[in-house]
Amino acid sequence: MTWTPARRVAPHDEAGLAAAVAAASAEGLRVRAMGAGHSFTPAAVTDGLHLDLDRLGGIESVLPQPDGTTHVTVRAGTRLSALNRLLAVLGLAMRNLGDIDRQSVAGAISTGTHGTGVRLGGLATQVRGVRVVTADGTVRTATDAAAPGTPERDLFEVARLGLGTAGVLAAVTLEVVPAFWLRAREEPWPLDRVLEGLEDYVDGNDHAEFYWFPGTRRALTLRNNRADADEVAAWAARRTGAAGRLRAAAGRARALLDDEVLSNGAFGVVNRIALAAPGAVPRLNAVSARALGARDYVAPSHDVFIHPRRVRFAEMEYALPRAELRGALAELDGWLRRSGEPVPFPVEVRFAAADDVWLSTARDRETAYVAVHQYAPMPHRRYFDAAEQVFTAVGGRPHWGKLHTRTADDLADHYPLDDVARVRGVVDPDGVFRNDYTDTVLGPPR
Ligand SMILES: Cc1cc2nc3c(=O)[nH]c(=O)nc-3n(C[C@H](O)[C@H](O)[C@H](O)COP(=O)(O)OP(=O)(O)OC[C@H]3O[C@@H](n4cnc5c(N)ncnc54)[C@H](O)[C@@H]3O)c2cc1C
Repeated sequence: MTWTPARRVAPHDEAGLAAAVAAASAEGLRVRAMGAGHSFTPAAVTDGLHLDLDRLGGIESVLPQPDGTTHVTVRAGTRLSALNRLLAVLGLAMRNLGDIDRQSVAGAISTGTHGTGVRLGGLATQVRGVRVVTADGTVRTATDAAAPGTPERDLFEVARLGLGTAGVLAAVTLEVVPAFWLRAREEPWPLDRVLEGLEDYVDGNDHAEFYWFPGTRRALTLRNNRADADEVAAWAARRTGAAGRLRAAAGRARALLDDEVLSNGAFGVVNRIALAAPGAVPRLNAVSARALGARDYVAPSHDVFIHPRRVRFAEMEYALPRAELRGALAELDGWLRRSGEPVPFPVEVRFAAADDVWLSTARDRETAYVAVHQYAPMPHRRYFDAAEQVFTAVGGRPHWGKLHTRTADDLADHYPLDDVARVRGVVDPDGVFRNDYTDTVLGPPR
C-alpha cells in the first residue's frame, strides 16, 4: 500500500506529538498515526499528517495490583516484540497474544488484534487506561475506572479500540500477569475429529486453534496450556548447564527446522508451485497436511504464541458466533470444492470469550475467528468474496485490520456506532482523525 501524505513527523516525545497534532489541525490537515503498517486495510492512510511513532517506545511505569496483576504503562509506538522482552525481564507477560509480534501496541489494540483462548479476550480487553492526544493537541487520560456513561469512560472506549478515530494514543496502560510457560502440542488430526469434539477441544484448552487445509479433511491442531511448576523446572533445566545448552541448541535447531524450513521454507516452495501450477493445489494441500508431524514442547508464553510468518499473503478474517462455526466451514468447503479455486494456504480457526469493548469483534458473544489467506501473488478476490458471503450470512464481523468489503450501514447492527460517532463528535468535531477507511466502516463523527 503506498500513499503520499502532505507531511511526515516522527516525534521524540509526547510534547512533540501534541504539538504536531495541534499544528496540523490548525492548518486543516487530517492526521493518522502509523504503527508497524501491518494492517491489510488502508486504516493508517492519510493525505495529511502521517505520524510515525517508532521513537515513542518503552515502558513508563509498573504498578503491582492487589489482585496479583500488574498495570504497565507503555508508550504507544512500542513494538509487541520489544514489549514481550521488557516484560520478561520484569517477570511479567501479556495474558494472551496474536500470531506475530511485529505490530506496535497502539496499532494492535486499535484494530482489535487477538489471539486464541475461549476464556480470554483480544488485546484491547487487556487495556486499563489510555493517554490520547485529541484534535486540538490536548493530552487526555481515560481509564476503565471511570463510570460507564461518563465522558471519560466514553473516550476510553473509542480510544482503546477505534482505529485511531478518538485521537493519537501516546501511551497505553496494560493489565499484565506474572510470567508463565505454556505446554504446546501441535498435532495433525482429521478435521472431522476436531469438529465432532469441538466443544471439548475448545473448552478443554487454555488456547486452542486449528488450521484446516482446503480441499482436504485434514487439520493441524494447536493446543497450548499453562505448564505446571514441575514441567517448567524440567524444561528450564534442559536449557541450562553444558548438556542442557547442547540439548537446547538441538531443540532450537529442531524448532528452526519446523518453523523456518518446514512451515516457512517448504511452505514458500509449496506456494510457488501453486502459483505456477494451480491445478496441483489439491494434491499439494493433501501432502502439506500429512507432512506436518506432531510436536510437544514447553516454553515461555510469548515464545509459544508467536510464530514467524515469512510467506507473504493476503488475509480476511471474520468473527463468527461460535455456534455457527461448523456450518460456516461446511459452506466454505462446499464452495471450494465446487469452484475448484486454488488455495494453497490453510484456513485458521481461533476462539475468544465474549467481551464488552464497544468495537470489539467479540462484543457480547463467544466467538470463533475464521481467517482465510491467499498467497500474495495469487488472486484472492473470488475466494474472499465467497468466504465473506458465507461469514456474513451467519452474522460475522470483519477484523478491522484485514481485508473485507463491509460498510458502516451493515455494521450498525453489530456495534454502537451512534455512540462512537457521538464521542468522536466531542473530541474531534472537525474530523481531523478521519480517513476514507474510517468513513466507510464507522461513518463520520457527529
Ligand atoms: C503477518 C501478520 C500476522 C497477523 N496476525 C494477527 C493475529 O494473530 N491476530 C490479529 O488479530 N491480527 C493479526 N494481524 C493483523 C494486525 O495485528 C493488525 O492489522 C494491527 O493493526 C497491525 O498493527 P500495526 O502496528 O502494524 O498497526 P497499523 O497497521 O500501522 O495501524 C493500524 C491502525 O491503528 C492506528 N494506529 C496506529 N498507531 C496509533 C496510535 N498511536 N494512536 C491511534 N491510532 C493508531 C492506525 O492509524 C490504523 O488505523 C496480522 C497481520 C499480519 C500482517
